[in-house]
Amino acid sequence: MITLALSKGRIFDETLPLLKAAGIEVLDDPETTRKLILATNLPDVRVVLVRASDVPTYVQYGGADLGITGRDTLLEHGSQGLYQPLDLQIAKCRMSVAVREGFDYAGAVRQGSRLRVATKFVSIAREFFASKGVHVDLIKLYGSMELAPLTGLADAIVDVVSTGNTLKANHLVEVERIMDISSRLVVNQAALKLKQQPIRHIIDAFAAALTPPTSV
Ligand code: AMP
Repeated sequence: MITLALSKGRIFDETLPLLKAAGIEVLDDPETTRKLILATNLPDVRVVLVRASDVPTYVQYGGADLGITGRDTLLEHGSQGLYQPLDLQIAKCRMSVAVREGFDYAGAVRQGSRLRVATKFVSIAREFFASKGVHVDLIKLYGSMELAPLTGLADAIVDVVSTGNTLKANHLVEVERIMDISSRLVVNQAALKLKQQPIRHIIDAFAAALTPPTSV
């Protein structure tokens, strides 16, 4: 049995064409079923639905052989024991610093002020501000980061931005782009040895589906 860990939403939706290229079709719709283990057209391949931030844990400890998760999640979790053969170029977004409209971020940084930064991505934020030599107090949040600057909890946030609509709707502006994010295929290293043939088949099919067709 090959088990693939996915999270519902954008990653699941954007993985379906890649699975199809590997000859795999998921038999249930995660938006309507309550099942957490989804069968596929192949009796020895199944999909487990987990939170995006739990995907590396499932794969690391062998609860799943493979998984797909964002670069942000892997950087926060650490990638010990995980083989990362492919950047799938799906669920693209960016990690950015945002502040309330009118907040003089550049001035605060220039003056060496200590900034309060709220984020779910504490490791990424710590490393980013340390590399800039900016002193920060990091406040760990688990959601709705946008609220932090509006309530005075923090001066800035570090969050994932896609269209920028969420920031705009909350009168926040993006002031720094920390990194581009996309989702990666991660593989349990022991599983890769023990189930080499079927896992290699999936990796190769995904890789082929990613390769842009060459023009003639
Ligand atoms: P947007 O309004 O399009 O900029 O989307 C911003 C919100 O959507 C962020 O607060 C994120 O929580 C979420 N989001 C957008 N894209 C992604 C992604 N690729 N991975 C994780 N979360 C995302």
